[in-house]
Amino acid sequence: MYEIIIIGSGPSGLFAALNLVNNGKDSICIIDKNPFPSGGMLNDCKLNLSTEIGMDLGELRITKEKAKEYIDFIDKTFLFFGAPDEVYGSDEKLYKEWAERAKRNDVEFIPSLQRHIGTDLSKKIIKNFRNYLEEKNVKIRLSTEIVHIEKKDSQFFLKSSTGEEFFSKYLLLAPGRSGSSWLREISKKLKISYSNGKKIDVGIRLEMNKESYPITDVIYDPKFKMFSKYKNVLRTFCTNPKGRVTLERYDDFTLINGDALKMKKTENTNFALLDTIILTEPLTDPFVYGKLISIATNLLGNGKPIIQRIGDFLDEKRSKFETFFDKTRWFDRVKPTLQIGELVTPGDIRMAYPYKIVKELKEGLIRLNKIFGNTILKEENIIYAPEVKFYSISYQTTDELETNVKNIFVAGDGAGKSRGIVGAAISGLIASNGILKKG
Ligand SMILES: Cc1cc2nc3c(=O)[nH]c(=O)nc-3n(C[C@H](O)[C@H](O)[C@H](O)COP(=O)(O)OP(=O)(O)OC[C@H]3O[C@@H](n4cnc5c(N)ncnc54)[C@H](O)[C@@H]3O)c2cc1C
Repeated sequence: MYEIIIIGSGPSGLFAALNLVNNGKDSICIIDKNPFPSGGMLNDCKLNLSTEIGMDLGELRITKEKAKEYIDFIDKTFLFFGAPDEVYGSDEKLYKEWAERAKRNDVEFIPSLQRHIGTDLSKKIIKNFRNYLEEKNVKIRLSTEIVHIEKKDSQFFLKSSTGEEFFSKYLLLAPGRSGSSWLREISKKLKISYSNGKKIDVGIRLEMNKESYPITDVIYDPKFKMFSKYKNVLRTFCTNPKGRVTLERYDDFTLINGDALKMKKTENTNFALLDTIILTEPLTDPFVYGKLISIATNLLGNGKPIIQRIGDFLDEKRSKFETFFDKTRWFDRVKPTLQIGELVTPGDIRMAYPYKIVKELKEGLIRLNKIFGNTILKEENIIYAPEVKFYSISYQTTDELETNVKNIFVAGDGAGKSRGIVGAAISGLIASNGILKKG
């Protein structure tokens, strides 16, 4: 029997545990189905240190000032566990210049302070984090998937896929984006109130020579935002200077993503251009919509994501194996960081994505191209699909993130409370403060 069980060892779960032990709690167990802790913190680990990115203050129900306090604590914690000192984006003059340049093309440039840790260095930080928690008596149970939760009198009874049983007084459910369907199923059984969202981000990932996106020398992950002609939001997301394009595998489909290492750099930079689609009646399940788009894209790629040269995309042609490195079109100038054939298939995203989305993405590319003096739409640049970001369903909670079921709290991306490492960590801190308040 534990006083508190946390499901999920991502940033929301880890920061919740940290706050609980630092405030005297000594009966805590973190359970994770993965064989290593940290959830998505292993991926690139860029810390967005601004309230405008990766979190929704309305959803977290906190003021900007309070969010800044949390961000400061989170950043200091990462530094304590070994994050690098360097911070990007503190040059205000430079921000102004880029903001003016963007504005001329009706694009907003969002300032953000960022600290980049990198997929390689994040391992060390997670190890230090884990050691700290274990030294304070937190039990971390890995390779343990919780499949059943039940309320028995005044405590919760949990069962793992191997039949192991756990009991606790409080539960913090923080299963991340990959666990959002699981959370929905558990919520149905426990009668936790939630509602489906309406939004989904569908986009592409661009990859180019690092020289084509020089802004990253001074701003690690520049955030541009604009409204399309159809009034949808288009925005740049998750830039990885000198990074790699990566795969994000789910049970039924594979998405595109990206990261960068601290110690080993590539010749390329990649970032996502996302189109936020808001579904209206009668379709109310954006998850299914996004999943179908992803499956269709994988189907055309023979079970893999699709890769396409910008030159082919603009000429309205599919990319093919035999012409992917066509020297006569300068295609040999950008070498993809994902292996063609093995991991991605040359194809045509226009076949996979709905017309309206393709049109909006093209509009976004054209406007970015204007800001960057024609380096975005170079023929040799590459686009990858599907890059889809699911918004989790929304849970009705108190200000402390307690659900309608007493003593069950939720936090992180899986519960729709955040959309990034820092936001997830904030939600973990809020929920754990809620548990602390109960005594
Ligand atoms: C490729 C990639 C790159 C990214 N790069 C960045 C970045 O640079 N900066 C940034 O801010 N964000 C980034 N993100 C997003 C970031 O990883 C997430 O926002 C963040 O990790 C969410 O934290 P979380 O605590 O909500 O969940 P997660 O970090 O996803 O952790 C949830 C954990 O719960 C566990 N779990 C789920 N269900 C169960 C179950 N039934 N039983 C036991 N355990 C379970 C999972 O195994 C997982 O470890 C990236 C994401 C990806 C995929």
